[in-house]
Amino acid sequence: MKPELVVPAGDFEALRAAIWNGADAVYLGGKKFNARIQARNFGLDELEQAIRYAHNRNVKIYVTVNTLIADRELNDLDDYLTNLHHLETDAIIVQDVGVLKLCKELHSDLRLHVSTQASVCGISGVKFWMDQGAKRATLPRELSFEEIRKIKEKNGVEVEVFMHGALCYSYSGQCYLSSFLGERSANRGRCASPCRLPYNIITGNGTTLRTDGPHLLSMKDLNLSEDIGKLVSAGVDALKIEGRMKIPEYVAVVTGIYRKLIDDDYRQPTHAEQKELEAIFNREFTKGSLYRYPGGKAINSGRPSNRGIEVGAIVGYDESFKKVSILFSEAIRVGDGLEFMTSFGYKGLVLTKLFTGGRRTSEILPKCVGELFLPFQPIPNSFVRKTRDSSLHEKARATFSNQESIPQIHNSKINFNQSRGYERLSSLVLTTKNEQTKKSSKICVEVNTLDSIRHAIKAGADEIYFGGFPEFTKNLDLNNYRQAIDIANESDIPITIVLSKMMGNDEHLKEIITTLKSEGADKFLVGDIGTLELVKQMGLTAYLDSSLNVFNRVARNLLFKSTERMTLSHELHLSQVARIAGGAPGEIEYIVHGPLVLMLSEYCPVSNAINSEDKISCRKTCNEKGFYLKDKRDLLYPVKCDEFSRTNILSSKDICLIEHLQELKAVGVDIFRIRCQLFKPNMIPELVKLYRTGLSIDNIDQGEDESLVSLKEKILKLSDRKTFEGKINTGIE
Ligand code: SF4
Repeated sequence: MKPELVVPAGDFEALRAAIWNGADAVYLGGKKFNARIQARNFGLDELEQAIRYAHNRNVKIYVTVNTLIADRELNDLDDYLTNLHHLETDAIIVQDVGVLKLCKELHSDLRLHVSTQASVCGISGVKFWMDQGAKRATLPRELSFEEIRKIKEKNGVEVEVFMHGALCYSYSGQCYLSSFLGERSANRGRCASPCRLPYNIITGNGTTLRTDGPHLLSMKDLNLSEDIGKLVSAGVDALKIEGRMKIPEYVAVVTGIYRKLIDDDYRQPTHAEQKELEAIFNREFTKGSLYRYPGGKAINSGRPSNRGIEVGAIVGYDESFKKVSILFSEAIRVGDGLEFMTSFGYKGLVLTKLFTGGRRTSEILPKCVGELFLPFQPIPNSFVRKTRDSSLHEKARATFSNQESIPQIHNSKINFNQSRGYERLSSLVLTTKNEQTKKSSKICVEVNTLDSIRHAIKAGADEIYFGGFPEFTKNLDLNNYRQAIDIANESDIPITIVLSKMMGNDEHLKEIITTLKSEGADKFLVGDIGTLELVKQMGLTAYLDSSLNVFNRVARNLLFKSTERMTLSHELHLSQVARIAGGAPGEIEYIVHGPLVLMLSEYCPVSNAINSEDKISCRKTCNEKGFYLKDKRDLLYPVKCDEFSRTNILSSKDICLIEHLQELKAVGVDIFRIRCQLFKPNMIPELVKLYRTGLSIDNIDQGEDESLVSLKEKILKLSDRKTFEGKINTGIE
């Protein structure tokens, strides 16, 4: 059976473009609960029209409900899902395990697909979601062909992969850069794309590294048009195009070409087809990690926007008339968009007037010289690029601009006023435990060196987490782990090993856990569902890290069946922490001090800058020098490699919640984690002491809040890193 062609639509025109160019299924979003909230999207009545329109043409509609959902939104979500169910939506696409659970309980026959936002990368992770009732997994764009093949082979589930369009620098669902810089969270569909901005890389002593361009995190676009047969041989069931923010013409061109390639038994694209894919939009193309780690080859650091195609070179410039002469290698015409290199960067315009030999014309043919007037001065002899191809746009538009009407809906199935109430959800959001259960507050210190463990234990830490981004020069330095476990055991302090996240390869991960177990490790901090499942299957204890994005009580209750401790998302407002922590059937942890991981990536800007062949050989230099990304505001983001070479881009400031300890304690937080990987070991005792004092203050109403202020002042003197309070006061939109 041929794979399904799954195509994006940000509005009704794009939906038409998708259908008339051969989509088997179209994915689109409503006005909320949707990871592309900046697209036009579809109101409920438009959704009904879209579904009728598509179903009349034998095309499926998948609706994205792929953001994290807050508890206060659950009723609203219930109403929304009920309407999607009534409207006969073919499937919904989800990120949040809470949404999956809610959907399964309330509308058991509504088909569920797992979004790439859920970062499900291994066999066990996929199995978890399928066991909960999902039918298809959209795999992370970082997976290799072999990893995709194994997931399909072992799970036999429906697998969907992206084959064309924009890529994120971070694993999807693991990017907090946009919410750190403002209130726009990628996990709520509001990413402001800070990965497309310019950065520098500097060393610990302030030297700036030379790089090809400034856009160090800006990924090229994915293009697997040559690899469809290979993906099909791996068992892929659905091939997806990215682009709900793209114009309908883009949807038409890309869908049309991929339709032909699939129908023609996965033939290679012709030169003309590749050129059209480039002409409609590209940031240069990459095959991502499908065959091998691409390193810097997957990044276009020169420019983060559409680069179009090269159409000619400047052969003359008359400064007094601001007239430029261009020898064209491709045909161009009025209405096209051209882009020029200037000493102030790239500048573009849409052609309204065009001349050849001094005469006005509407078109210039290849190998001919054309003239035009520019409001800026181009660099002599530089190349000219076409960023908008008006004939391609016209051709594309003709495929979907027939006058057939959008269906008028009589007897709508939408019910705007369902008012289902909290009771309907109560079995999912409440637990049997008494909400007032008082648990003791523990300080857990996360460290990455043996010296730091000793200091933390001496300072009275209740527990140790070891790992994160240890300064090892090779993967899994067993000697270090062994010693770390011994040091903690000698003092009778519980130690938990921090595992690398998004490992993808279950067999490899199993070997690692088995090896660590043989060294005495029995507790692990896990950052993704797949690792959680593996650790659990091996009869060991797994605690959940904040990267699991637990954002509501439904998710909390589901995941507490697999763990006894979870760290809540640091994107939550205090009131949301209170809802989730209240009545929790296990321990609730919160990161109260230290850097946050803002991006978790397969790619490394440092390794690219120092031209490392892989991500191992640069380890030593990286540890010795210490590298930072520097943004336009001179904020410095530490770049740290974890044990298995995933890049962690850390916050430029440390979260510091010492002034909120009493509130966090009052709402039910049990474990207060201090992340010390960036601190000198001798700073740890003071930090632990200050937090211990903060936790012991019981009576803020009687003036003890002043003591908290003075504790904060002392913390500020300990380190030159600035602090912030995360989202505890503001939450995210
Ligand atoms: S990598 Fe992060 S900042 Fe960039 S587009 Fe993806 S979610 Fe947004």
